[in-house]
Amino acid sequence: MEQFQFPQDLHIHTTFSAGDTAVAVEQTVDLVAGLGHAKVLGISDHLDWVGGAAFDKYRQTVRGLGLHLGLEVDGASWVEEALELPVDYFVYHCYDNPVDYQGAERLLSGGKPVIAAHPLFLGTNPDHLPPDCLVEINNRYVWRSDWRTRFLPFLPRFKFVISSDAHQPHWLSQHLARHVAREIGVTETLLF
Ligand SMILES: [Zn+2]
Ligand SMILES: [Zn+2]
Repeated sequence: MEQFQFPQDLHIHTTFSAGDTAVAVEQTVDLVAGLGHAKVLGISDHLDWVGGAAFDKYRQTVRGLGLHLGLEVDGASWVEEALELPVDYFVYHCYDNPVDYQGAERLLSGGKPVIAAHPLFLGTNPDHLPPDCLVEINNRYVWRSDWRTRFLPFLPRFKFVISSDAHQPHWLSQHLARHVAREIGVTETLLF
């Protein structure tokens, strides 16, 4: 029987994020699928680079390997384009301003899961984030914040997911994020 290191990882980047200099050239969808570190596995490349003419190849490659198809959406200005695309879920940059909270509401109106990406890093305010958004504990960034204090107001109102935000094969890890989840008493919500 196959063993998975993690139950879920839906925030992963690949070489489809062509302009993201943090992505290693070896970080292909094939490689991520082959490593299979999580049972629920999805790719969430930046809409900035997989929209328009690039989308069909992105979709075919990710779906062709049996992975969930996601998009990382950089705030409200990208939301309308994101809603046009047949993906399974969104990883959303919700900056701390009214237009981006409205963007989160609008993205939720599509009926697909919306994960508020690395909220401590972006300064996302739990009082303004729509409660139907899922809150991410992000392995790449969580250690940069005072997470013990800053996750507290999110805890009663939100469901949580845990993500690697991997841009390179050795980032396909969630050790820090899972430590934080244990310490603050979060049980992860599995989306698929
Ligand atoms: Zn991000
Ligand atoms: Zn990301």
